[in-house]
Amino acid sequence: MKKVIVTGGCGFIGSHTVVELQQKGYTVVIADDLSNSTPSVVENIGRITGEKPILEIVDLSDRTACLRFFKVHSDADAVIHFAAAKAVGESVSKPLHYYRNNIGSLLNVLDAMERSSCRTFVFSSSCTVYGQPDHLPVTEQTPRKPACSPYGNTKQVCEDVLADLVASCRTDKGKGGALSGASWKILSLRYFNPIGAHPSALIGELPNGEPNNLMPYITQTAAGIRPLLKVFGNDYPTPDGTPVRDYIHVCDLAEAHVKAMEYMQENGFEGMDCFNLGTGRGYSVLEVIGSFERVTGIKLAYEIAGRRDGDIAQIWADAGKAERLLGWKARRTLDEMTLSAWKWQENLQKKI
Ligand code: UDP
Repeated sequence: MKKVIVTGGCGFIGSHTVVELQQKGYTVVIADDLSNSTPSVVENIGRITGEKPILEIVDLSDRTACLRFFKVHSDADAVIHFAAAKAVGESVSKPLHYYRNNIGSLLNVLDAMERSSCRTFVFSSSCTVYGQPDHLPVTEQTPRKPACSPYGNTKQVCEDVLADLVASCRTDKGKGGALSGASWKILSLRYFNPIGAHPSALIGELPNGEPNNLMPYITQTAAGIRPLLKVFGNDYPTPDGTPVRDYIHVCDLAEAHVKAMEYMQENGFEGMDCFNLGTGRGYSVLEVIGSFERVTGIKLAYEIAGRRDGDIAQIWADAGKAERLLGWKARRTLDEMTLSAWKWQENLQKKI
C-alpha cells in the first residue's frame, strides 16, 4: 500500500484530501502543527473512513524537526504540501511570519525530500497568483501579476522555488552531474475559491476567530455567531455589481489532488507543471447568498458595505487542462456547496 505524507492534513482542504486518499487505499501520515486546526479532525477522519490516519505534530518551519519527521517516514511515495498560513489580511500585518512559515517550511520539506528517494510533490497554490487578469477565463498561461499581499507573494515565491529546483536538476543532468535519486515530479495546483464540506458534516472549514472568507462568514451569521454579513461592494463591473469568484466544492478539490499525484506517478511525468482547479464558472456574492437562502430556508442578515481593500472584481478558471490531462472535472453544484457548508456549521454548534 502506498504511503503519502500530507502536510497540513488537519486543515480544511488537507483533511478532505486525507479522506479521499484513504478511500483510494493509500496510507496517510499527517504532519501538522495544529496552529489552525485541532487533533479532533483526525478522529473525525477516522469516523468517515474507518481508519484514523497517523498524525505527527510538527512545525515544518523548524528545520531540525522537519528533517527528523521525514527521516522517520523516508519510505513515503509522495508528499502533498498544504501546511501554510493563509489569511491575507493577517499576512499584511505579520509579513515575516508568513515568509518564514510558508517559504521556510517549503524549503525544509524539499531539503528533507532530497535526502530521501521521494521526488513526487504536490503544492497548494492559489488563483491569487493571477491578480485581476486582463482576460477571462484564466488559463495556466495567463501571466502572473505582482502579488497584492505577503500571502499572495509567498505562493508566487514558492512556485518559483519549485521551478528553480526542477531547472537545477536539468542543468545538473546536462553537465552529466550526479543527481541524488530520480528527477522531481512537481505539480502546483492553483485553487480558485474552495468552499463546502464533507457530506458527513464531520470535517469542514474551522476559521480561527472572525472569518475572512465569505462562506464561513455566511454560515456563522446564519448560526447567530455574527450579527450581520457585510457584502463588500456592489459597484463592481459585474452583472449584479458584487464580485464574481469561481467557487469549488472542497470534495472536488480533494479528488483533484489524488488524480494529480497519480498522474505524476503513472505517466512518466518529469519536471513541473501547473493546473487551475476551478469549475470554470463564476458566481457573484449575491448569487452565493441566494443559493444559501434557497437550500437552507434561512433568511440571511446582510447589508451592502464598502469595497474591501485588495479585492478584484471577477475571476474564474479555464479548468480544461486538468480535465484533459488529469481526467478530473469539478462535479458538485453551488447548492451542494452551500448546503454542505451549512450542515457542517450546524454540526459544529452541536460541538462534535
Ligand atoms: N466577501 C464579502 N463579505 C465577507 C467576506 C467576503 O462580501 O465577509 C466577498 C469578497 O469581497 C469577495 C468574495 O466574497 O468578493 C470572496 O471572498 P473570500 O475572502 O471568500 O475569497 P477571495 O476571493 O477574496 O480570496
